Amino acid sequence: MFEQWLDVECACGKKHSLTTRDFFIERDAYANLPALLEKLQLGSKPLAVFDSNTYKAAHGTLEQYLPDTDALILQGDDIHADEKSIEAVAGALAGHSVILAVGAGVINDVTRYVSFKEGVPFISMPTAASVDGFVANAAVVTLNGMKRTMPAAAPVAVVADLDIIAAAPAYLAASGVGDMLSKYISIADWKVGSLIAGEYYCSLIAQMELDALALIAERIDGIAAGDPESIGKLMEGLVISGLAIQMASITRPASSFEHHFSHYLEVVPLNGKISTALHGEKVGIASLIAAKYYPLFAHRLERIFRENLPNRFSGQRIREYYSGCPDTLVESIIQENTPNISCNLDVPALEQHYSDVVEIADGLPSPDFLHDILKKVGGMTDYRELGMTPSHFRKIMKSCCYIRNRFTLLRLMSDYELFDFDMMDD
Ligand SMILES: [Zn+2]
Ligand SMILES: [Zn+2]
Repeated sequence: MFEQWLDVECACGKKHSLTTRDFFIERDAYANLPALLEKLQLGSKPLAVFDSNTYKAAHGTLEQYLPDTDALILQGDDIHADEKSIEAVAGALAGHSVILAVGAGVINDVTRYVSFKEGVPFISMPTAASVDGFVANAAVVTLNGMKRTMPAAAPVAVVADLDIIAAAPAYLAASGVGDMLSKYISIADWKVGSLIAGEYYCSLIAQMELDALALIAERIDGIAAGDPESIGKLMEGLVISGLAIQMASITRPASSFEHHFSHYLEVVPLNGKISTALHGEKVGIASLIAAKYYPLFAHRLERIFRENLPNRFSGQRIREYYSGCPDTLVESIIQENTPNISCNLDVPALEQHYSDVVEIADGLPSPDFLHDILKKVGGMTDYRELGMTPSHFRKIMKSCCYIRNRFTLLRLMSDYELFDFDMMDD
């Protein structure tokens, strides 16, 4: 299955290729490591990076198959992808030919950043099925106290041991499910963008995302029960979603309004505090919101060509919505939205494809369907679980679309003033 995506001369006009050359998601997956190092010519001197929990969970098994591996344990209960962790990994790197990132988000982000900087390849060895970013080629790192997305290396392979992943806390798998549900929304927005704003679109990649999602939806009862084979399908879906992003070289296939909702909460404090909820928890809740409102949003678009409505985007609007935030943040958001993406709306194309756009939005799964999936796996389903009030919610719905300059149905509602966000309750 995997070989078909390695190097593709695609009908979309692009040549897609992958840095990630192989993956193993199975019981006793680490048994594949010696042969994999040889096949990918990665040398025989790996450095394995752990935190204290993943060291406990995985070091014994790793040692069985690669006894000459040096181990670096990032110490502390609350490690971050910051200068301290980056220096620790870079400092331990001398003499090693490949890095093994054994852990979830932070370990992988630190390793992929160092891997890119130092030119030493790495293998991602996830210990929880919590996000789709394991094969990403960008890392979220905190430099000088600021969280930033930086260029980084994608792993040359993914090796995930099913027993270790299935033993991870259930809320991590629920977060992985939440992250995947977002693909219903991001693919819908991507398709709409291609129809009415001339956006690049690849149906092979879109289908990969939807197939990855189907893999998970089919196994949701098993995932909820913690069955290792089903958790393996979740992990596989997350990896395939990440590969789709790698092939597209943009996050567009996997990230839309629901990710902007999450990114907003990562930079704008709520009641004086930045949300500590997991990425997939925030994204899952926002996907549910999109499933509820997108059909309504799509129907409103008719007014743009019927009434010849103007685009009312302005920097002033961003200043109002983000008042109270540090000036540097506000200015960077204005910069991000210059030139404003919704200017790409092709009004005659909207008129021509209006019924297709409505069909795409109406074709999204119902909010009840997504709610049931999230409930089954014990995930969060309501923004109130994030500590938000209805007034926070209305504020976020109005302003989160400016966190990234990306074409979404929500963005059109804001820029063309087609929706009264102050009337929303949930
Ligand atoms: Zn393509
Ligand atoms: Zn995500």
